[in-house]
Amino acid sequence: MKRRDTLKWIGGAAGLGIIGTGTATADPPAEQQRRYDYEGLLGELERIERSSQGSVSLAFAGESLEGREIPVASVGNGETDVFIDTEQHGNEPTGTSAAVEVLRSLGSGGNNVRGVLDSLTVHMMLMVNPDGAERNQRVNADGVDPNRNHDYQPGSEDNPSPEAQAMIDAVDEIDPLWVADLHTQTGDYIDDDDNSVTASNYWPIASGVPEDAQDLSKQMNWAMYDEVSQYGYANITQYPGGTNPAIARNAYGLQDRGSVLLEATGQADDRGPRMEGMMIRLMNEEVTTLLEGTVDGSLFDIDPNNAEEIPERPSRQSWRWDTE
Ligand SMILES: [Zn+2]
Repeated sequence: MKRRDTLKWIGGAAGLGIIGTGTATADPPAEQQRRYDYEGLLGELERIERSSQGSVSLAFAGESLEGREIPVASVGNGETDVFIDTEQHGNEPTGTSAAVEVLRSLGSGGNNVRGVLDSLTVHMMLMVNPDGAERNQRVNADGVDPNRNHDYQPGSEDNPSPEAQAMIDAVDEIDPLWVADLHTQTGDYIDDDDNSVTASNYWPIASGVPEDAQDLSKQMNWAMYDEVSQYGYANITQYPGGTNPAIARNAYGLQDRGSVLLEATGQADDRGPRMEGMMIRLMNEEVTTLLEGTVDGSLFDIDPNNAEEIPERPSRQSWRWDTE
């Protein structure tokens, strides 16, 4: 049954002619597992806030079309603000699960996170699209894609995605050094060595992105690639993203911020839960790398041109797990 669903999904995607073009917009397979629905996420964030003894503070920044308040958790006392958002697309739960793990770790206040807490204030806007998450769908309750609506001014009332506007306003108020936008990519991309791609990341390439913002974004990409590539399960490529200035990756780069897109590979079949655990761990490692590299300054010593050496995402796509 699951296999049939998966194959049907691939057939549908192929029928739309989007395989291999890098602009896949079809929903991932229906088996997508999630740790947190909206209420579950709020409950978990409240637990983390309580047990952190004051170091994690939970706030809400705007609300979805259906009136669900969008949570922003902040932790740390540092002067430098950084911003992480998850689940603009409501069927991409991996980033939310990973960010909650990072938040829990930071909220514990252990010695291993002391440097981050002293140097940074980390803001996490989690499940930006809660109405979509409740439906396990990409778009918001009106069928609007939040991640195509980041080209509005702060305070705008014209944005067809109040979720995207909430993020625009939160970023404007917080004024972070960088923004990391967590997603899940559809399908299982296979490289020339027959290995599955586990994540694809990218930097802003819209016309007009200031050079220093693009350089910082490339440094962030290389830091993640270089760190995570040492793990056996990690196989990172560039994400073949475009120049649309309304996409968060480009929009926040245009604001002269570091800006990265993180796309973990989606779950495919009945091995989904195990795969999801690996992807959550991978995203956790990537985000942690960004935080630590910002704190110790190693991020800023990287040659931005290194990022160009990250392999491009292969076009070959198959559900290898179904056939082996
Ligand atoms: Zn997405």
